[in-house]
Amino acid sequence: MNKTLIMTPGPTYVNEEVRLAMAQPITNPDLDMNFYEFYKDTCGKLKELMKTKEDVLILSGEAILGLEAACASLIEPRDKVLCIDNGIFGKGFGDFAKIYNGDVTYYKGDYRKSIDVEKLEEFLKTNHDFKIATIVHCETPSGITNPVNLICPLLKKYGIISIVDSVSAIAGENIEVDNWEMDIVIGGTQKCLSAPPGLTFLSISQLAWHKILNRNSPILSFYANLSIWKNWYKEKWFPYTQPISDIYALNKAVELALKDDILLTRHESLGKAVRESFHHCGLELYALNGFSNTVTTVNIPEGITYDTLFNEMITDHSIMIAGGLDFLKDKVFRIGHMGENCREDKLYLVFKALNTIFIKNNIPLEDELHKTFINKVNS
Ligand SMILES: *Cc1c(COP(=O)(O)O)cnc(C)c1O
Repeated sequence: MNKTLIMTPGPTYVNEEVRLAMAQPITNPDLDMNFYEFYKDTCGKLKELMKTKEDVLILSGEAILGLEAACASLIEPRDKVLCIDNGIFGKGFGDFAKIYNGDVTYYKGDYRKSIDVEKLEEFLKTNHDFKIATIVHCETPSGITNPVNLICPLLKKYGIISIVDSVSAIAGENIEVDNWEMDIVIGGTQKCLSAPPGLTFLSISQLAWHKILNRNSPILSFYANLSIWKNWYKEKWFPYTQPISDIYALNKAVELALKDDILLTRHESLGKAVRESFHHCGLELYALNGFSNTVTTVNIPEGITYDTLFNEMITDHSIMIAGGLDFLKDKVFRIGHMGENCREDKLYLVFKALNTIFIKNNIPLEDELHKTFINKVNS
């Protein structure tokens, strides 16, 4: 059995209650009417979590399927798509839009900062001939949260349909789908919800449904086609056999998240303590503002490589941390403090191990990381 403490920004630790939920006997999900109710109940819990009255669907594929399904179903050839890009996932969204022949314009922000809403507003004043816009809520590679609460209403002012990747934010950062006028919001199981990887879920507004159901051209996919789901409950019909065990786990995980009264405040206070501890000890965060409460990205100090850091964390301390993606490879390390990993005891172990490794490798620290962390948590 794997005893390594997985502190990456997803997949996260799956607790026993969620794992046991997966062990329940399965049924035939197409023929058992109770399963339609169970699926509906799971969507209902997700609606509560995402603060929406709109439809929520669960699709059997990892979060990337959610991103692709939103693009495949909404975007018609030559539709003008605004891709709001201040990070690796933000830029990548444009690639999905291009697969479905969207006419993509990138709005590029500073990769070390959250999107500046005033500047975006200026841009939109003269450039708003877009049908659809894509935006990432939390840029997991850089540890930056974008103010989607302000961005989505701004897009709506110009009638632009928003697709929001909230995969690493839902259940770790506040999200109010209806109040913030978000059209399609995508989540995943393996981040802040701390369920096993395998499912994606998304909310779909009336406006998004209208576009999906009134296209001039067919949706060039089956698996990523949201329109086939429109009447699943009324017709008691699923497009394909549902991954029952994964949905059992998701239902339990959302139930636990909803029961946790301090879920968001814990992410906020521990996220802050993590950042302040690194800063206090002389380490530099990659992000300059808009700090995420679910993941922290730290510049690797001089004198140690990412490989050494990663390997010593595993071999000497049985803790797995993550590194940089794309252009950040070997330049940063990342700690996920999301969902079940947003816990003081686990983060203490991470800081203690990092402290030991930095001292062993003669990396100067201005104070002890783990002691600073405890002080910050208690201050
Ligand atoms: C994790 C994540 C996804 C899903 O990507 P995988 O690499 O397949 O896990 C999508 N968007 C964001 C912002 C994520 O953090």
